[in-house]
Amino acid sequence: MRCPECGHEDTRVLESRLSHEGRAVRRRRNCPDCNYRFTTYEREEDFIFQIKKRDGRIEAYMRDKAIRSLQVACQKRPITIDQLEGLLAKIERTVQDDGERVVSSEKFGGMILERLNDLDKVAYVRFASVYKDFRDTDQFLKELQLVGSLKNEIPTKSH
Ligand SMILES: [Zn+2]
Repeated sequence: MRCPECGHEDTRVLESRLSHEGRAVRRRRNCPDCNYRFTTYEREEDFIFQIKKRDGRIEAYMRDKAIRSLQVACQKRPITIDQLEGLLAKIERTVQDDGERVVSSEKFGGMILERLNDLDKVAYVRFASVYKDFRDTDQFLKELQLVGSLKNEIPTKSH
């Protein structure tokens, strides 16, 4: 969120709490540039953000859609829908705390990957293969090596 004092593009959230019976969030913000502090009240409908796709199109973020793509990556993995909901809730909160209205699909995918990596390595690689837009096979294989010993869950390069 832009600083109202100096116009700096990025401000930090110092404190975030629900007010008005949970229908709004009160945030204390601080500008790292001029050190100006201010408070914002953001209504629930303002929390909904949009996703900017690679081709430049912007569409409303839909959790159901994100859940579905995660479920594909998590097929036959020991991951519950609750875990996926929780993962997305954390990411949504991060986006909201940043005060962003539009998030690029690359950034959003990256945030999912970061958390999926902690949750399940196989699901991580599956999701990465779709969303990380690997430029070539080598890059993808490098990613697989980072994931390490996954036995027969994922294809390995034959020599
Ligand atoms: Zn400022």
